[in-house]
Order: sequence, then structure tokens, then C-alpha cells
Amino acid sequence: MTNNMTTAEYIALEDRYGAHNYHPLDVVLTRGEGCWVWDVEGNKYLDCLAAYSAVNQGHCHPALVKVLTEQVCRMALTSRAFRNDQLGLFYKELCELTGYAKVLPMNTGAEAVETAIKAARKWAYKVKKVPEGQAEILVFDNNFHGRTTTIVGFSSEEQYRDGFGPFTPGFKILPYGDADAVAKAMNPNVAAVMVEPIQGEGGIIIPPSGFLKALRQLTKKHNALLVADEIQAGLGRTGKLFSFEHEDIRPDIVIIGKALSGGLYPVSAILADDEVMGVFHPGDHGSTYGGNPVAAAVARAAIRVIVEEKMVENSAELGAYALKRLKSIDAPHVKEVRGRGLWIGIELHPHAGGARRYCEALQREGILCKETHTHVIRLAPPLNITPEDLDWALERLIRVLTTLTPLEAAAPKPKKGLRRLLGALGR
Ligand SMILES: *Cc1c(COP(=O)(O)O)cnc(C)c1O
Repeated sequence: MTNNMTTAEYIALEDRYGAHNYHPLDVVLTRGEGCWVWDVEGNKYLDCLAAYSAVNQGHCHPALVKVLTEQVCRMALTSRAFRNDQLGLFYKELCELTGYAKVLPMNTGAEAVETAIKAARKWAYKVKKVPEGQAEILVFDNNFHGRTTTIVGFSSEEQYRDGFGPFTPGFKILPYGDADAVAKAMNPNVAAVMVEPIQGEGGIIIPPSGFLKALRQLTKKHNALLVADEIQAGLGRTGKLFSFEHEDIRPDIVIIGKALSGGLYPVSAILADDEVMGVFHPGDHGSTYGGNPVAAAVARAAIRVIVEEKMVENSAELGAYALKRLKSIDAPHVKEVRGRGLWIGIELHPHAGGARRYCEALQREGILCKETHTHVIRLAPPLNITPEDLDWALERLIRVLTTLTPLEAAAPKPKKGLRRLLGALGR
């Protein structure tokens, strides 16, 4: 099913017919295997984004592909009007892996975040007895929890909100990492504190040590729920199964997605114990595709290979090694290198001219990654990357970071209109 079209032709099609709500690198991928991907011109790249950690298990993991194709051929969708023979096993295996009592499955991350918000509010009214319509959820600035109108309503990113109001009330944004601010904001109407234990889209921001523990203590003290959004950080990315384990806490609700399917299919879920999950009764909440047999079968395989192939351990080990090497490089425009596991943010000084040109230079070297928050290069390869492949990437990364000078940012580039025209002409 290949089409013999050029990169420029594919890009021109997307530009002509698609909404322009993304600014991708100009690479058109057609095939992936493990850590490696190939573009339509036959160039090979090491994928250091892994679809924002959805592909932690590597591209087209054979065990996942096998389960998906077999399940699709046998039974794809029942709806939750009927039961299917995969869902119960998925619940059981996920609960046994994570130590939570119950699962509520959805499809995308944003839907699971919405599900957590609903669970927290309903718990607040039915269990905590917050007066109707008064429940508050405390969130943090620089957060990323998805793109629904409710979720962008409590984003601190102006662009994510601009033009999409009016927004859902009931959220308060506090400074990330500031436990005192949380203590001050606590009041009897607080249903939950929702946090990313490490902020991914925000630029791999690790909060001050003790912050998550303080959130756990404060929520306990004020009878509020602690909700951890582990959609990107979870399932091994940070060298632990969940990133909150770095502070030895146990949230009341855990939100997962992305790698829950290894990138083959949208699968998300919330995890909680009976007191919280018990607030849902038939008809309260649902999704046509949520918990479908393909999703359940693929997720079962996705979590099985994370464990069997020791991906969490590999992430911890190789991540520590990569972080050490990157921290030791001598490049004056690198402001900070930080990370946990195979999740590393390289923050550049503004005079470097933005992380995107470094990502474009890395693309020419055969490495795909994506800037986040203008000045941060995010590294997040699949968790089963080999030491050899990681070294291959580090060598090129270090070369680009040390040789691509900030000065080159000033080099003239064709204007955007001209670039697009050249692109459309296939130049
Ligand atoms: C990606 C992400 C989401 C949203 O997931 P979608 O599947 O894109 O809706 C929510 N929270 C975090 C932390 C994420 O990284």
C-alpha cells in the first residue's frame, strides 16, 4: 500500500487538506520496528520521542501486533452493552500489576483525565459531603492534562485556552512544586489535588523533592483525593512503574494511557480503590469503545511485555547512564540537563535560538525528537532500546549540542511562504 510519492507531496497534501493544528518535523514516516523508523525516502532514524511515550515498548512490538491482529479477526467491538472475554482479564492483570482494586477503561488520555475529574467530584459530593456544585480541584501551573474544553480551561498555557472559552469552573491553579501554596488553598470543598509527578509537556520538570509526599500528607489531612496523571510518566518511563514511586507515595486515583497499548491502539484508564470507584453506578459514565476487546487484549500484552522484558529496569539503568553522559558535556548554550529514567530534558539558553533547530539538526543525523516548551529537547526513546543504540544516539546528540553554535540561529532561512512554495514544488 505504498504510494510512490515524495516527502514534499505528502506534506503538501497534509497542508492542503488537513487542519493546521500541529507543526510536525518535515519527515514522513512509513515503517517502524523497535526503536527505529523509516521515512518514505528510505532514510532510517532512531525514534527518541516514542510518540510521547505511547511507544515505550518499541514500534510494532511483535507480541502486541500478534495479539492485536488475532483479536481484530476474532472480535473487535461488543460495546459495553454486552460483556467480552478480554475485559475481565485486563482488569485483573492491571490490578495485580499496580496494586489498585479497580479499573475504569477509556480510550484517550484526555478521556481518562475527564473520568478522574468526574470520579473526584462525585466522591466529594457522595462520600465527603461537599455541598452540591461547590467541589474544587487543585491543579498546577505548567500542567498538561489533555485538550478537552474542561481540561484546557485549567491550563496555564495561553495558547491552549485562547478562543475556546467559556470554561468549566471548579479548578484552582497553584504554582507547581509549592506545597505551602497547596496548604493555603486547602478548604473543606477541595475534592482533589491533581498532579503530574513529573511534568512532561511542561519540559520534563521534576518538582522539588518532598513535594509529592507533602501533597499526600495534605490531601490525607484535609480528606481530599490525590490524583496522579501518569499518562506520560507512567508504565516505566522514569525507571519505576509509576513516577510517584520515586517519592514512595500512593495516590488515590492514577490516570494512565499512552504506553498502556504500546502505541497500537488508544487505551486509557483510571485506577482506584473501592471507596472511589464505588461512586460509579450503571449509567453514570461510559464510552462506546472504552474497554473493547481489542483494547483489552492489546493492553494485556502491552503490560505483560513491559514486565517480561524488564523495560522498567532498562529505563532506570540506561537512563541513569545517558543522564550522566549528557550532564558532563561542555556546551555553553545548554542551561540544564535533567531527567528520570529514559526521560531526559535538555534545556537550552534562549540565545541558542530555540530547541527546534537542534531537533532539525538531529533529524539530519538520523535521530527524531521534538522540542517542548520552545527551549527544551525531550529525549524519550522506547524503553527496550539497547545500550549500543543508545550510545549511537548519544554520540550524535553530543556532537550536535557541541557543534551547532547558537550563532547559526541568525543564519538566513527562506521565509515561511517561500519554504512552503519550495516544499510544494518538491524542492
Ligand atoms: C498525553 C497526555 C495527556 C492526554 O492524552 P491524550 O491521549 O493525548 O488525550 C494527558 N496527560 C498527560 C500527562 C499527557 O502526557
